[in-house]
Amino acid sequence: MDDSGFLKKLLLLLLIGVLFLGCLFGGLYYLDKKGKLESIRNRFSSSRSNQTGTGEYYYGSDKETTRATSAPSTEASGTTAMTEPEIPDEGDLSGYTIILDPGHGGRDSGCVFPFNNPQYNECDFTLRIALATKEELESRGATVYLTRSDNSWVSLYSRPAQAHLICMDIAKEMGILPFTPEREEELRASLQETIDINESTVASGGMGIMVGSGIGEDLLELVEMEYQLDQVLFLSLHLNSNEPRNLHGTQIYYVTDESVIESEHRQMRENSEFKRSDFPIRDDYYGRRNEDNELLALCLYDNIVGNIPDFATNARPTVSDNFAVIREHGLVGALIEVAYLSDDNDREMLLRDDIVGEVAHSIGDGVKMYFTQKGF
Ligand SMILES: [Zn+2]
Repeated sequence: MDDSGFLKKLLLLLLIGVLFLGCLFGGLYYLDKKGKLESIRNRFSSSRSNQTGTGEYYYGSDKETTRATSAPSTEASGTTAMTEPEIPDEGDLSGYTIILDPGHGGRDSGCVFPFNNPQYNECDFTLRIALATKEELESRGATVYLTRSDNSWVSLYSRPAQAHLICMDIAKEMGILPFTPEREEELRASLQETIDINESTVASGGMGIMVGSGIGEDLLELVEMEYQLDQVLFLSLHLNSNEPRNLHGTQIYYVTDESVIESEHRQMRENSEFKRSDFPIRDDYYGRRNEDNELLALCLYDNIVGNIPDFATNARPTVSDNFAVIREHGLVGALIEVAYLSDDNDREMLLRDDIVGEVAHSIGDGVKMYFTQKGF
């Protein structure tokens, strides 16, 4: 073989080597970013409709109970990207805002266990998980708000009302508040009234601009503003419970236009509150961020169960449904039923500080995964 033939072969080998390495690292990077989620998307591709666990629909709240202690866990999270030094910290949540909504509280204990002689109240667990999650998210640089920070009663509609006020502040700071000063004052006063009345019934007036089926004009103005806030999420924290005590594990609920409309039509047929003369029945509303809500639910489930395999559920992992706290604002959000209080193993796990810390950590990972997938 002469010199030029040898050089050609050497160059060819080098080229093949470079191509092979390129494919290998490219593939690894893609899997790191997408693979995890794509796989669960396929596994749970159709998660629709109503599986009834507890029911914070329009007015109801479930009845059950817990007891807890406290504790966080703060580890740095995420995978360290060896091939992309431009991504400094995969777990970093600087610039993002999370509104955490610990379910129930005060006179509303949520679900309880045992059913007839409660020793454990859902409201205690949700607060404890929320406080740990707040600490976790803040340690990653996020701004976190709580709709309640102690064991006090907070009405169903006070929770989204608080979210609206927070969003108005954020939008204002970003320079995208779409209201005149007078209109801003009006809306703020109306939302504050809902918070002050702090009751969940139509008769109390505590539903404010969130009363009615469909979406009224006042609420629509806020919702449309909130659709622009890609870096803000609303997460409601709950525990599940069921009577035959045969279900366990994590479930994530989220809203879609379809799930809300289906539920509202059912309420119109069955719920006497909907038949009040002062109850507005509006046209069906379409426009929610259905797919983003679903994606967030998948990210949360995947990370919680990925980190705590005991919480893999035998019920439906993600379910589109209709809950006031995730329906009455325009933020992407989810209602996390962390586990079943009625299940012995779930309950034992929830009583452990390290598990509560792991739940908080996993919520951080899930949120980060959602933002990364969306490119926000
Ligand atoms: Zn609950």
